[in-house]
Amino acid sequence: MKQNTRVAVVGGGLGGLAAARLLQKAGINAQVYEQAPSFLKLGAGIHISPNVMKVMRVMGIEKDLEAAGCSPDRWRSRDGVTGEILFEIALGDIARQRFGASYLTVRRGDFHGMMLGTLQAGTTHFGKKLVDLKDTGEAVILKFEDGTAEEADIVIGADGINSKIREKLLGPERANYTGDIAHRAMFSARGLKGFESDQCSKWWSGDRHIVIYYVDKNRDEIYYVTGVPDPEWNATESWLPSSRDEMREAFAGWHPAIQSLIDATQEVTKWPLMDRNPLPIWSEGRLVLLGDACHPMKPHMAQGAGMAIEDAAMLVRCLQEAGLNNHETAFQLYKANRSERATRVQRVSKQNSWLRFGEDPSWCFGYDVFEVPLVSAQAQQAHGLAL
Ligand SMILES: Cc1cc2nc3c(=O)[nH]c(=O)nc-3n(C[C@H](O)[C@H](O)[C@H](O)COP(=O)(O)OP(=O)(O)OC[C@H]3O[C@@H](n4cnc5c(N)ncnc54)[C@H](O)[C@@H]3O)c2cc1C
Repeated sequence: MKQNTRVAVVGGGLGGLAAARLLQKAGINAQVYEQAPSFLKLGAGIHISPNVMKVMRVMGIEKDLEAAGCSPDRWRSRDGVTGEILFEIALGDIARQRFGASYLTVRRGDFHGMMLGTLQAGTTHFGKKLVDLKDTGEAVILKFEDGTAEEADIVIGADGINSKIREKLLGPERANYTGDIAHRAMFSARGLKGFESDQCSKWWSGDRHIVIYYVDKNRDEIYYVTGVPDPEWNATESWLPSSRDEMREAFAGWHPAIQSLIDATQEVTKWPLMDRNPLPIWSEGRLVLLGDACHPMKPHMAQGAGMAIEDAAMLVRCLQEAGLNNHETAFQLYKANRSERATRVQRVSKQNSWLRFGEDPSWCFGYDVFEVPLVSAQAQQAHGLAL
């Protein structure tokens, strides 16, 4: 194995940071290039399910996350109008026993900050927007907006839904607007009046839903995220401000608990939900994609970042398996071991049916990316043809 292989990770989101940490842990030189000028804390929450916590264990931040986040006692599905419980699964200690790790809900900014803290000093480079890259066959030259350039042996495109590296592999193509938006709000739970919240719940009715959960251990702060149809998104911004009135209109006639949640809302934003169809190729030469660059999805299973993080772990596993010199073999092995799962999660997320009325989530939460037996690229291809 070539010891001095240089890996450039483009994009310092959750997927890119996981890849860089796991590469560095394996003794591989990994540098992260992120377009943002500095680390930005998004005011949002995020679910970290047991399949993802197993990666956090190896990255060394499982305990820190458990100390910061809420470990909900259960996940509840409720009718949005009547409040009737449609389905529930026990989490807390039961999740740890059943799926092998905790199920947590946390502040996304805390999670991102902890991930960043695992990287070797001086290996995260902010203000580096990739504008072009060239694979010379011997190496890849990366060019950044600030006029600088870097060279790497392997480039991981972890640069999100509008990935420059995806564009290099497949040409320019706009992501699909799915016809739904997500409202997001996070605020002090003290402001809630007459609302006894489940620790983590999803309320559904007709064509819309709202997911509500705490984001910290002491359950001081509550977060919600919706899915609401909106036929057009013409703004160029990735989000816009929304309002309590807009929320009241979207959830008119819903249960009083939802009305009191809206009343307590301080600030609320709205985000267009975008996706892509599964990509035919995930890599070429020295370039490889992961996460939203590769399989962006609707957030309705709360697994988009989870899939990016699992991708990162599987990619590093395959590079170790095949050897850094055999990156093309490693990339084929990686796709063979990730595409079926990522595509399934993309499909279920699009259906927005996950845990609504009842199902066994073990295939998703019980998965361990480090332990799952590897399938060869040939076996996966034959299996794919047979389906
Ligand atoms: C409303 C909503 C709720 C969600 N909730 C959950 C949840 O609970 N659980 C979950 O697992 N997932 C959730 N997701 C999905 C999750 O946010 C994404 O799937 C995840 O962030 C993808 O991670 P990534 O690292 O692949 O990409 P990103 O997070 O998009 O990171 C890409 C990074 O690349 C950088 N970048 C882009 N272009 C360039 C360039 N040219 N040069 C350099 N840097 C560049 C960007 O600035 C960014 O930092 C949710 C998504 C939405 C919209």
